[in-house]
Amino acid sequence: MATTGPTASGSVGGLDFDVRPSDRPRSPDERAALLESPGFGQIFTDHMVTIRYESGKGWYDARLEPYGPLSLDPATAALHYGQEIFEGLKAYRREDGTIALFRPEANAARLNRSARRMAMPELPEDVFVRAIELLLEHDSAWVPSREGHSLYLRPFMFATQVGMGVNSPSASYLFAVIASPSAAYFSGAVKPVRVWLSEDYTRAAPGGTGEAKCAGNYAASFLAQAEAVQRGCDQVVWLDAAEHRWVEEMGGMNLFFVFGSGADARLVTPELNGALLPGITRDSLLRLAPELGWSVEEGRISTEQWRAAAESGELTEVFACGTAAVITPVGSVRSASGDWQHGDGTPGPVTLRLREELVGIQYGLRPDPYGWVRALG
Ligand SMILES: *Cc1c(COP(=O)(O)O)cnc(C)c1O
Repeated sequence: MATTGPTASGSVGGLDFDVRPSDRPRSPDERAALLESPGFGQIFTDHMVTIRYESGKGWYDARLEPYGPLSLDPATAALHYGQEIFEGLKAYRREDGTIALFRPEANAARLNRSARRMAMPELPEDVFVRAIELLLEHDSAWVPSREGHSLYLRPFMFATQVGMGVNSPSASYLFAVIASPSAAYFSGAVKPVRVWLSEDYTRAAPGGTGEAKCAGNYAASFLAQAEAVQRGCDQVVWLDAAEHRWVEEMGGMNLFFVFGSGADARLVTPELNGALLPGITRDSLLRLAPELGWSVEEGRISTEQWRAAAESGELTEVFACGTAAVITPVGSVRSASGDWQHGDGTPGPVTLRLREELVGIQYGLRPDPYGWVRALG
């Protein structure tokens, strides 16, 4: 299949999008009421984009259509064997009223890495980006303008072949993009979370699917997350599968550790070992931190080191990062062997400075020398 750029006819990657706007979009008043207090991932815009795939034929039947239920045969492969991958990115309303995306090509590339791991077809990156832009052209009024709010975009792909044979991956797939106006992920101000070190469950193992953004990783996480809540914590921290000792991630976010303070602060984030999800926020912070004068390295951190450095005061801040919640301070830790906290348990200056810079770039309030922001229309 050709993967040429957009042409005058609107064809991308050899695909023409059939545009069928809703004849019953919500009224401006209804929309305004919904945008008052959108929560996270609770309400959806008027449209969605869908593209189908069949092996031997490639991607076809690309369309924009009214948001609505999908009708699936009960024997659809994804419902039985879990071939499902997804992405998450946001559209931001900037001060001048325009809309921008943050590194959408990075999401396109990661979707394809996830697809390869799950034996699913890759989608040309320009088709991925065009699908998002097309949805935004029709649902731009749903991009909130309130501070900290955004339109969360959820591209996803799943196996649609009907039948329960397990000898080969599905021969057909549906790719779709839906959009959900969202408030800040964790409600309230930048409030530190308390985390639970999960020593009984693991999220991912070497050779497994930890670095793919697939539904199954989340299915495997809910019990541990429930345990964290039971222990009075907000989030679960995942450790490595072999030794239950090396820190990997927090829930659906990557972690950063800050040693020292002021100009001497030094950041460490767990290295990508095949079990971690390579976050685009993580990658962006690896670029940003040195620009703000802090060294940053990818390395290994054990739970013993974490606790000892927190207790000695050498470890001053810990935060988690991801698209949905941006940067969230980790105030304290609870584990089977005891509790500890970082500094005085309030958000630290390095955490807050990085957050301000990243959010500033996303909302167009700061320069973007990295070429991360993709302004629309
Ligand atoms: C999506 C995700 C992240 C964060 O990735 P971003 O690209 O920064 O949003 C981190 N960990 C897991 C498990 C994830 O699914």
